[in-house]
Amino acid sequence: MPYAEKIYLTKLKSAGLSSTQPRYLLYELLSSRDHQPMSVRDVIAALCPRVDRASVYRALKAFEQAGIIQRVSSGWKYKVELSDDFHGHHHHLICKRCGRITPVDDHDSLESTLEQVSRKYAFSMQDHQLEIKGICADCKRQN
Ligand SMILES: [Zn+2]
Ligand SMILES: [Zn+2]
Ligand SMILES: [Zn+2]
Repeated sequence: MPYAEKIYLTKLKSAGLSSTQPRYLLYELLSSRDHQPMSVRDVIAALCPRVDRASVYRALKAFEQAGIIQRVSSGWKYKVELSDDFHGHHHHLICKRCGRITPVDDHDSLESTLEQVSRKYAFSMQDHQLEIKGICADCKRQN
């Protein structure tokens, strides 16, 4: 069994859930995406009609509670991806024009800056989300 799948099953189990067919299909879909977060609409388009809509929504909710997925906010909408436990902690560059999301994982100095900022306020940081928004290289070239 691949390592990621073990994480998936362990997380489901510790949330008191089992891997039903709709849940497994959702997991499989998200893990096949090579780190491109998906909108809920895309998830539904990919899974329905194999899975009914209500089950997809229920599976998404269960995954969020179990820490299997996390939201990536882009504007007032959001996309979902497998959580940091699968990909490691990272941030995203989000293109406002084409919507492309690029993971950023080389960011030691970024992490220590955030630590420093928290410490300045005597704050113990446990978690953070940071998305960098702008225009990607391809979109810039098309101007
Ligand atoms: Zn772009
Ligand atoms: Zn990501
Ligand atoms: Zn970070």
